[in-house]
Amino acid sequence: MATPLSPRTPPDSRPATTARAAPVNAFTVDVEDYFHVAALASAVSRESWATRECRVERNTDRLLALLESQRIRGTFFVLGWVAERYPALVRRIAAGGHEIACHGYSHQLIYHQTREEFREETARAKDLLEEAIGAPVLGYRAASFSVIRSSLWALDTLIDLGFRYDSSIFPIRHDRYGIPDASPDPGRVAAPSGRTLVEFPMASATFLGVKVPICGGGYFRIFPYWLTRAGLRQINGRRRAFPFYLHPWEIDPQQPRVPVGALSRFRHYTNLHRCEQRLARLLGEFPFAPMRDVLRERGLLELDAPVAAVGNGSPGQSCSIADAHSIP
Ligand SMILES: [Zn+2]
Repeated sequence: MATPLSPRTPPDSRPATTARAAPVNAFTVDVEDYFHVAALASAVSRESWATRECRVERNTDRLLALLESQRIRGTFFVLGWVAERYPALVRRIAAGGHEIACHGYSHQLIYHQTREEFREETARAKDLLEEAIGAPVLGYRAASFSVIRSSLWALDTLIDLGFRYDSSIFPIRHDRYGIPDASPDPGRVAAPSGRTLVEFPMASATFLGVKVPICGGGYFRIFPYWLTRAGLRQINGRRRAFPFYLHPWEIDPQQPRVPVGALSRFRHYTNLHRCEQRLARLLGEFPFAPMRDVLRERGLLELDAPVAAVGNGSPGQSCSIADAHSIP
């Protein structure tokens, strides 16, 4: 059986050269508030969102200031619900030189939606974002990485809606997401219709033969910093770029506490007070650029308009549409 979602050319098969600069990685933010998070959904009804204290604008501005201080640009996957209420925030992010991408509208897991619901709300979110910035939105990331094997149909919807890339597949085992045998490398993946879309999957390192998700969010807060750094260096050492991701609420230790079970509490609240400082350190230790630019530099995305160069990133393992693997 063919390995699903695998690029044709593994990066290690490329000829080795010496003294090459480290691959440039994608820095990404999923712009949502603390009460949108799937781990808290059992205790936070959607109906209550409108009455809750919104902290996303202030927290995102803090992230923007930190990125500006280190002269780093990234990709912000903005929730449509946020864009509808804070279009000026979306414009501020774009004005800072960052890429605006789409995180859906309602933060519902794709595999809990019908195809029609998914199409309708994703189109709505894309429209809101494009209206805010007056430019096309190319990238998409699902709530809680909910493009899994049973919801791969969503890739066809993304193609239909004009998205150029997706960053929702996590090649690990997890109770809420993951396609464990998906390729860890950016490349084109085939949707059920046979059409293809560029995918930038989430990254893992391997320690003692065990795959460890290492590229942001709760993993970044819960694991000690040295482990994250070692894992990310391992990935870059193999000439692979990683996508790092974070949420604005993860640098907000003062956020209101929601009464949830022990596992969700652990995932959501651990080390919030350490996160901003850790992030500042990380930003100084790895090269980053917006995801769009990293994909373009690796030959996976052709853009009509020129974007900033991402430095000395390694050449990409591009593969043509015909090379993309079908999904069994
Ligand atoms: Zn999210």
